[in-house]
Amino acid sequence: AAEIETHDYDVLIVGAGGAGLRAAIAAREAGLRTAIICKSLFGKAHTVMAEGGIAASMGNVNSNDSWQVHFRDTMRGGKFLNSWRMAELHAKEAPDRVWELETYGALFDRTPDGRISQRNFGGHEYPRLAHVGDRTGLELIRTMQQKIVSLQQDDERESGDPEAGLKVFAEVTITDLLQDESGAVAGAFGYFRESGRFVRFNAPAVVLATGGIGKSFKVTSNSWEYTGDGHALALRAGSTLVNMEFIQFHPTGMVWPPSVKGILVTESVRGDGGVLKNSEGKRFMFDYVPDVFRGQYAQTEDEGDRWYTDPDNNKRPPELLPRDEVARAINSEVKAGRGSPHGGVFLDIASRRSPEEILKKLPSMHHQFKELADVDITKEAMEVGPTCHYVMGGVEVDPDTAAAARVPGLFAAGEVSGGMHGSNRLGGNSLSDLLVFGARAGAGAAAYVRGLGDARPVAPQGALDAAAATALAPFEEEGGENPYTLHQEMQQTMNDLVGIIRRADEIEAALTKLEQLKERARHLTVEGHRQFNPGWHLALDLRNMLAVSECVARAALLRQESRGGHTRDDYPTMDAKWRGRNLICSAEGDGIRVEEQPMPAMRGDLLALFERAELAKYLTPGELAAVGATKD
Ligand code: FAD
Repeated sequence: AAEIETHDYDVLIVGAGGAGLRAAIAAREAGLRTAIICKSLFGKAHTVMAEGGIAASMGNVNSNDSWQVHFRDTMRGGKFLNSWRMAELHAKEAPDRVWELETYGALFDRTPDGRISQRNFGGHEYPRLAHVGDRTGLELIRTMQQKIVSLQQDDERESGDPEAGLKVFAEVTITDLLQDESGAVAGAFGYFRESGRFVRFNAPAVVLATGGIGKSFKVTSNSWEYTGDGHALALRAGSTLVNMEFIQFHPTGMVWPPSVKGILVTESVRGDGGVLKNSEGKRFMFDYVPDVFRGQYAQTEDEGDRWYTDPDNNKRPPELLPRDEVARAINSEVKAGRGSPHGGVFLDIASRRSPEEILKKLPSMHHQFKELADVDITKEAMEVGPTCHYVMGGVEVDPDTAAAARVPGLFAAGEVSGGMHGSNRLGGNSLSDLLVFGARAGAGAAAYVRGLGDARPVAPQGALDAAAATALAPFEEEGGENPYTLHQEMQQTMNDLVGIIRRADEIEAALTKLEQLKERARHLTVEGHRQFNPGWHLALDLRNMLAVSECVARAALLRQESRGGHTRDDYPTMDAKWRGRNLICSAEGDGIRVEEQPMPAMRGDLLALFERAELAKYLTPGELAAVGATKD
């Protein structure tokens, strides 16, 4: 233990996706020594996979757009369970964060008159997603890496050392946070993936920007990195997770061939005119418009089709309902025996747009289907079905500073944080979330560190020894469990029993199984050495996935209603009494405790952005009576 490589920083950013990079830029610009740590190669974060775009009400394509409309859409998408303060900050600040990317060098697609182009997406009233073809995330990461290099060049000019103010540690996995006796953050502990050597970072502030949890589920659009590490790190440090029952199943993942099942088919296909059909050739989404959205969506195919060219005088087609609605509809069609040959439904853009248009707007989708499924999307329909895509739940944070609950010095931004998206996230609202709250987290961490002065928390040696012992445990055990077997059983359990449609008895069965898996996970055995050993890495990730899965299942059992990314067969409707309640998960011994917590009432000026009749769909009669003047 005496030989552990040690580094000292002011701010540690765990994660190099959009949220982490934006936080690092903010912390470094505030003058603090900042380290970025990521478990993949630098530049390979999940954000790179984002296709459709960044939601921001710049109003470039339809000047009626404004932050107020974006705020409204976000709250509707989340079925009013969002942290309204986060939704407000997000809607107000997203345009500035996008424009700022241009100053870093981003090259967005343009409108004919040269402004940043914006495309339609589900749940957004106006064309709002700034994009670069269907490769927006790649441009976002490329641009911020470029900004980081330019900041490093500044540092080199000033001090002779390009890494004096901002350094990247790639292929390092953090396994534990370090805290002082009072619980304040003192740094983090991890290992180099290649060599297996341990590394210790001392820092009074840590920003978690580790992304999501999709690898807990069998069918997912998420990559190997999404093992819920940040969620679990926060829990183990004594912080809390909010809204963990809400998981977004994206309606359109690939369903065939089996090796690529779950890979995302971007919503832009529908935004650009693609429609969903069942095996009878019917555009079935018209049968699935729920009451809360009736009046905002077209009732006939003709009207829906006219909307693409004349959005001011027509309503949008129901293929562009929020994702939870579309995913449930596809699930119902397949269950009713009207699915496609491989258990999905058809997504057809070939009969709706010319090959030239498809190739220009959806080049990656064309490539993906040609390479992986031998389907030419300019000629044939795709087969698609729901896939676990995004976790709305995450670390409970202060909206303004991104400070995590209960643990001084801990911050969280991006997909690992919770609250912003309520029960369901709108497409495009993640990339904007990363930028808005990444910047706020970096600034929040910097302000916290400045406030500490010279009094920096120090972790006791025991904490370090314990972290090292936990990491090495799978090498000590002989004849124990195989991490791959446990992982598969957990993924199957979550998929089958806590998936898109849930029931009390099934969730209870999942919790029993998770308990057994947790017990078996105490006796994992890995073969070989510490040098690049994927079995060992998985063994360490498993405890995170198990903790997070238990949060999802426990919260899902407690919430007796259906809302957004949480559908209960035994409580099929949305219940106003649950709207005002968050479910908060914390670690208790070896288990997870879930508590109800009332949400703060929305500010009057924000409530006034909605018509009373709409509020009545979400609020209890008591809440509604307390509401002052609204728009009607
Ligand atoms: P990520 O970009 O995932 O970065 C996480 C980082 O944390 C990585 O660098 C990883 O290595 C690191 N990390 C994790 N654990 C550890 C650890 N223990 N130690 C060290 N490092 C760690 N959203 C939109 O708004 N618009 C879109 O068009 C869109 N398209 C999408 C398409 C796909 C296929 C997918 C999967 C998602 C899409 N999303 C989209 C969602 C969006 O991309 C993600 O929610 C977002 O990129 C998450 O960013 P992040 O910064 O929070 O995390």
